[in-house]
Amino acid sequence: MNLYFIKSQDFNDFVKSLVGSKKVIGPKAKKHKFVFDRIELPEDLRLDYDTTILPPKKEFFPTTQKLVEFKGNHYNGCINPEEKILFGVHFYDVKAIDMTDHLFREKNEDWNYLANREATTIVASNVQTVSNRAFYGSVGTEVKPKGHDAYLTKLKDGYLYEAITNKGEALVKFGKFDKGTDSHRKEAEEINNAVLKKCPESLKYGTKEIADKVRKSFDKKEVWENAAHDCFSCGSCNVVCPTCYCFDVQDDWNLDQTSGLRSRYWDACLTEDFSKISLGAGATENFREHSADRFRHRIMRKATYLNEKLGGPACVGCGRCSSACTADIADPTKVINKIMELR
Ligand code: SF4
Ligand code: SF4
Repeated sequence: MNLYFIKSQDFNDFVKSLVGSKKVIGPKAKKHKFVFDRIELPEDLRLDYDTTILPPKKEFFPTTQKLVEFKGNHYNGCINPEEKILFGVHFYDVKAIDMTDHLFREKNEDWNYLANREATTIVASNVQTVSNRAFYGSVGTEVKPKGHDAYLTKLKDGYLYEAITNKGEALVKFGKFDKGTDSHRKEAEEINNAVLKKCPESLKYGTKEIADKVRKSFDKKEVWENAAHDCFSCGSCNVVCPTCYCFDVQDDWNLDQTSGLRSRYWDACLTEDFSKISLGAGATENFREHSADRFRHRIMRKATYLNEKLGGPACVGCGRCSSACTADIADPTKVINKIMELR
C-alpha cells in the first residue's frame, strides 16, 4: 500500500481530471438526501454526505437488469460492463460490497454481477457526517473493510490517499499528489477511529452472543408478532439494505411469442409474494404467510444465518432500513437489543 497526500486546494482539480477521463459515480445531493450518481463536476461530489438512499451495490447489481434477449433458439447476453470509478464509498458499504462479492462468487459465479464489479475501481472515503440512525460502531467490528482499491481520508489541510491495489494506484497520476507521511497516516487513523464512537445508536452485545440468542428466539412467537405488529410488508427495509441480494427473474415475451427479454429485479423477503410458490393448477402455498414470519426471517438472516459464510453479521449498521421504514420498526438495534434482554 502506498500513501499519498493532496492539498485541499488541489483536490477539485484531481476530481475534475478524473471525471474528464473516466466515468465517475459518487455521492451527490438530491434535495435534502444523497444518492450515488454520475459526477460531472467536482462541486457535485459531496464527500460530506451522511448516507445515501440506495447503497452503491446498484452499480454492479442494478434494481432492474436486462440479462438476455432471445428469439427462438437464439439468444444474446445483455451484460456489457462499463469501466467506472465508484468514488466516496463509506467503509460500511465497502464491507457490504465485500459480502455481496462473496455471495455472488460462491458456488455458481454470477457474472451478471461480477462483470460489472470487476470493471469498477472503488475509492472509499472516510465518514465526515454520521447519519442519525447509524450503528456501525457496534456491529461486526471484527470484520474489516476490504475489496476497495483506495481509501481517502479528509485531513485538516488536505486528503490522505491510500492506494491499495494497482487500480487505486493508477488514479494517482490524475492529481498533484505528494508522498504521504506517518504523521498523515496517524491523523487519518484518529479520524477514522473517532467516527465509530459518534454513532447515535448501538448494539449492546457482541456478534456471537447476538447470533446465539437471536437463533434461540426463533420459536418465541409473541416476540416476532409484537415486533412485526405495525409492518406494512412494503419491503423498503430490504430494498435500501446494502447486504440484501435477492432477486426475481422474469421473461417478457413480445407479441410474436417467439422473442423476448429476460431480466432480473431486486426482490424483498418482507413482501407477501416473496415466499409464495406454485403448487400447480392455480394453487399456491406461502411458506412465510404472516408478516411476523417474514420479519423474523430478515432478522435471522442479518444476525445469524449468514454469519458463518461471512465471518460476521450480514448487517453493517448503516441505518438505512431504520430511516426507510414508515412504521419505524425495522431498526435492527431496537429489535435485537430487546431480544437480548429476554430471559
Ligand atoms: S439491516 Fe439495516 S442497518 Fe443493517 S445493513 Fe441492512 S439496511 Fe443497513
Ligand atoms: S419492517 Fe418497515 S420497511 Fe420493512 S416491510 Fe415492514 S413496514 Fe416496510
